[in-house]
This record gives sequence, structure tokens and C-alpha cells, in this order.
Amino acid sequence: MEKTSETTTEYRPFLEYSKEELAALLKSWGLPGYRVGQIRRWVFARETDRFSEMSDLSKELRTKLAEAFVAPRRDGENGETAEKAATLPILLENGVEKTLAPAETGGAAEVAKIGKAAQTAEARETAADGASVAAAPVGFDSVFEGRLVAKSVSDDGSEKLLIEWRDGARVECVLLRDDRGRRSACVSVQVGCAMKCAFCASGLGGFSRNLTKSEILEELLRLNALLPKEERLTHIVVMGTGEPTLNLDALLPALAEATASDGLDLGNRKVTISTVGIPAGIRRLAAENVPYKLAVSLHAPNDRIRDEIMPQNRIHPIAEVLSAADVFFKTTGRRVTFEYILLDGINAGVEHALELARLLRNKTAIVNVIPYNPAPELPFKTPSTQTTRRFVDALEDAGIQVKIRFRKGDKINAACGQLRWSLRDR
Ligand code: SF4
Repeated sequence: MEKTSETTTEYRPFLEYSKEELAALLKSWGLPGYRVGQIRRWVFARETDRFSEMSDLSKELRTKLAEAFVAPRRDGENGETAEKAATLPILLENGVEKTLAPAETGGAAEVAKIGKAAQTAEARETAADGASVAAAPVGFDSVFEGRLVAKSVSDDGSEKLLIEWRDGARVECVLLRDDRGRRSACVSVQVGCAMKCAFCASGLGGFSRNLTKSEILEELLRLNALLPKEERLTHIVVMGTGEPTLNLDALLPALAEATASDGLDLGNRKVTISTVGIPAGIRRLAAENVPYKLAVSLHAPNDRIRDEIMPQNRIHPIAEVLSAADVFFKTTGRRVTFEYILLDGINAGVEHALELARLLRNKTAIVNVIPYNPAPELPFKTPSTQTTRRFVDALEDAGIQVKIRFRKGDKINAACGQLRWSLRDR
């Protein structure tokens, strides 16, 4: 049979476009450059993901943007109506479900107010102006490509989102609040993780794929949108699922948008990239002189223990990791944080603290001690407060600068290991 040729335009999400690329696209549409600033302001500062709500753009441009950037949905997904989105369940950590009000779900159920069967641009326009209240498919008018599947709320104010991407892959991201006013976004960079750290539930399912720049940026925007209008994200910690240095090509452009003055406008030093310790990745961060902080997950004072709990160590042992961290410090002048999860009976003894102190002697570094947060599917235990105290005292007595956060009632399950425990200390 003779093949017929089909003209298909490959979909490229809005958040993949840099400012320059967006300017070039709009220019090709015959539009002036100032439109770029208007559109970006809506997305990054005014926190709308809806083209139809960009009220200082012409109706024609809003329609054109929606046609260009609204993500094609997977089979069957268009059947998910606003009505269904409006009853998206919120999954509380204690297992109790409650129904989200549309306003709580952010982009996904905001569509509830857009209306039913608004299939034409004209109908969308009307709906966005509030004149119509029937139903549109979820994501019909959004710059986002993913959809919100669930949201968990902890009694300490942390909120975790589960986002499903167009290929069905799902990731979590977390908004952390502390009493010093910090509003930290903890984002994932991969679907699953190949690092197989023994204490981490996120790595159990293995690695699927890297996230794209737009997907990482969407995590940030969705978390930022959880905050009340008068608040903004203050920090980003790349400590969700996945190894950041294995996805720098997507992560760094996403962080560039997050720290741009016409992006999310976060200070560079408010961003921390946490790595399991891939020397080539650390050296690349140093070579590119990225303006962000670096945290290295050490978690053991010697290769024998680290080989057991972090299999990646068999490829890149501690000496290699520390050598790369030294290069980062020498090149950027920024002190490296070493993360250390305390696992009872494994790495939490005074002897381990002394060995760790010898390892880090003469380094400009800080150790972030994190008592293990138990996960039901994993066999590790949290050390007692006394054991933890003795470990920290031994480190400090040996001249090592230490930060620690004793556990309190965070009920959000950890994604990238237990690292989230340390976030409130940044
Ligand atoms: S702790 Fe981080 S690097 Fe290790 S398996 Fe979990 S997600 Fe991957």
C-alpha cells in the first residue's frame, strides 16, 4: 500500500521557549516584541496558566497562543471534564480523602469555571470572561502540559503535588513552609531514579526518563501558585526524585528561568542543587560556574558503608566525589554542604562521626545531619535523640560545622531520600 504523507507539527510546550525563542515566534506572527514581556508577566508574576485570562492581550492573540501551546491530550483524557476536575480528591497523609474545591487544585480545576464544551476559541473566550459556565477538557487553555493528579497536605504546612505528564509518567514536588518565612520548592528532575540509594523509596521503581525543562519549570510554577498572592517562592531545592547532575541540560535552563528577573525572580543563592556525587556533573557545574549552591549526599564516612547504602559509590568512590567537590569550591568560592542521613546501627556511631571529621578535615564545608525518616517499605531505623546528639557533638568537637534538624511532625513522605528533612535549615 502506498504511504500517504501527513503534515504534523510537533508540539513544543510554552515553557520550553526561552524569552528569545518566544520573541522570534511572535515576530514571525507579525507581533511586536513587547508582547513577550506581557505574556511572561502573566505566567511568572501574575501566576495564571490560562491564556484566556491574559486580559491585556487581544482576543486573537490569546486564541493563537492557545492553539500553539495547549498540550495535545492523550487518548481519553479529553473526556475529563471540568466537573470531574472539580472533584479531584485530595489525598491526606492519614489516608483520609476530601474533595478539593476548584480553587485549591490550581490549574487543573480552574478550568471548572471555564465551562462546558467550550470547543471553539470564541466559546473559550466567553467562558474565560465568566459569562459561560459549562465544561471544557482539563488543560484546554493552559500553558501547562501536565495535570494535577493529587495533592497532599501535611500538618506542618508542607504540600506535595503529584503531576502526571503527557506520557502518563508521574512525579512529585513539594512546597515547604517554615516559620522564618521561607517558602521552598523541592522539585524532581527525573521520573524514577537509577541511583538505587538503599534508604530511598523513590529509587525503588527504577529510572524511566529525564524531565524536560518545561516539566521542571511547571513544577516550580505550580508550587508557587499554591502560595497566597502576597507570597512568592523564596528558595528552590533540587532534591526531589532523580539525580540532578544527570539532567543538567534540562535543569539549568529551568533554573535560569526561575532566577531571571522576568521569571520567578529568585536569588541565585537561594537555589541548591543536591547530587548523589557524580564527579563529572559536579565538575560541569564548576566549569560553568553556576551561581547556585551545591549539596553532596555523602551519608557515609568510608567506602565500605557507602558502597552498601549508595551503590553509585562503587563507580565513583568517596575520594573522587570529594575531589570534584573541592574543584567546585575552588572554582566558585561557594562552600559545599555534605548531606548525612543518620541510619541507626549503620553510620550513626561516634566512630563514624570521627571518621567523617577526618575525611572533611581542612575543607570549607558544612555537614547537614538528617535523622532518618522511616519509610514503611525500607528496613532502616531512626537513631535515638541521644545517638544523634552524640554524633553531632563528636563532629563539632572535631571542628566540623554541623547543621541538624531534629524530626517533628512532617507527614509528607520523602521523595529523594530523606533530604527534604534538611531543607528547613537552609
Ligand atoms: S536518594 Fe535521590 S539519588 Fe538516591 S535513589 Fe533516591 S532519588 Fe535517587
